[in-house]
Amino acid sequence: MESRLAFTDRIASVGSLAAGVAHEINNPLSYVISNLSYLAEALAGQPGLPDEVHSALREAAEGAERVRRIVRDIRAFSRPDDERHGPVDLKRVVEGAISLASNELRHRAKLVRDLGEGVLAWGNEARVGQVALNLLVNAAQAIARGSAAENEIRVSTRRVPEGVELTVRDTGSGMPPEVQARIFDPFFTTKPVGVGTGLGLFICQRIVAELRGSISVESEPGRGTTFRVVFPEAPAP
Ligand code: ADP
Ligand code: MG
Repeated sequence: MESRLAFTDRIASVGSLAAGVAHEINNPLSYVISNLSYLAEALAGQPGLPDEVHSALREAAEGAERVRRIVRDIRAFSRPDDERHGPVDLKRVVEGAISLASNELRHRAKLVRDLGEGVLAWGNEARVGQVALNLLVNAAQAIARGSAAENEIRVSTRRVPEGVELTVRDTGSGMPPEVQARIFDPFFTTKPVGVGTGLGLFICQRIVAELRGSISVESEPGRGTTFRVVFPEAPAP
């Protein structure tokens, strides 16, 4: 088996390459997006233009927007701010992710917290936070807007024999088996352009693998979904 150090190194170098590429894409992409929006405005009032021109522009703008989100997700994943590993208080990290996701969570579901005190994972805090955030946003997006009264998202953390566990359970759409089979694939999404990039769970899985944890899912169409992540526990001080 690959040694832990080599594995982490490899992920780090792939990460910084992706970050570099994403950074380079950003500038030309801004030109594309701003010129497309200029053209759309300039042509909006022109009489006699075929409908296809307007729809071609709209599709080009949607495609560019999709690229923008993908670039943003890759940059967030590869941000090499602080890669130090240490004890990570899951309760604190989850509270942080909840406040970052508050816009998505509003009007979607009743949020139930079941967060144990002193549940300490071993890993990088920002990475663990990204996992929690992605799972929360997905849970929220699986629930139709405006049905908050009938729906619940439950976030729990606790110690388990294998380590420390984070679960995110929602009463949203659930997934059929053919979707479930592909959710960890990069760029796999069932969401409309502009909402999904299909990178969230791919990134979660990479992070969890990097931290030597595990991630699993149970889902039933029409009933909801539970994601369960187990991280290694921080050694007692
Ligand atoms: P994205 O959210 O950008 O589509 P993800 O990698 O986060 O990408 O998720 C991939 C796909 O997995 C989603 O498009 C959706 O079909 C499915 N999925 C993920 N989480 C859930 C969930 N909690 N409930 C239902 N489907 C989900
Ligand atoms: Mg997602």
